[in-house]
Amino acid sequence: MAHPKTERTLVIVKPDGIQRALIGEIMKRYERLGLKLVALKMMIPTEKMIEEHYLLDPNWKKNVGEKSIASYVKKGETPPSTDPIEVANVVVANLKKYMTSGPVIAMVWEGAHAVELVRKVTGGTEPRSAGIGTIRGDFVLDSYQIADTDNRAIRNLIHASGSVPEAEMEIPHWFKPEEVISYRVPHEAILYDVEMKNILG
Ligand code: ADP
Ligand code: MG
Repeated sequence: MAHPKTERTLVIVKPDGIQRALIGEIMKRYERLGLKLVALKMMIPTEKMIEEHYLLDPNWKKNVGEKSIASYVKKGETPPSTDPIEVANVVVANLKKYMTSGPVIAMVWEGAHAVELVRKVTGGTEPRSAGIGTIRGDFVLDSYQIADTDNRAIRNLIHASGSVPEAEMEIPHWFKPEEVISYRVPHEAILYDVEMKNILG
């Protein structure tokens, strides 16, 4: 089995993240955890790339639809539709517009629990209910309600892989194998080595 420190996750700074000048702020959050940046590129994605990205996981549509409906129910509000697939189809169409509206930055971060930790620091999908201290919770204010009223995607600054299998599908969708770089940084010794040697000379 590969060592857990080799886990990788895909992060995309979405067009609104770049427009809001939050690139450095976002990268800082992952870097200071101890995760290592192993791939990075700026690009304007095509609609095809975005559609394929979100449909890599065959269960994503059902999940995104159910999560949206549940958020309305939790607030005692009525969702625009009760069919998760119908909800998801609208989300995909709106994501294609949102994610191709300007440049994005795609990156791969590596380290122990990379997927889970990046999601924790990034915060929940809806900025309105994302936790205090998370990037989505602290830097933006969008909601299911405003997005649905205006028939657009929720603007939440970042994409981050939702699970290890999702990351394993998403990374090759955005990066060729040779674009993901294997290298060492000195602080890995303190994070991961079994013994902390060479501190006292
Ligand atoms: P996450 O990005 O937190 O993993 P999902 O994978 O469920 O969230 O959804 C992908 C993206 O689609 C979200 O980040 C958000 O931009 C958008 N989105 C999800 N659900 C809705 C919705 N009901 N209405 C508008 N946009 C949505
Ligand atoms: Mg997701």
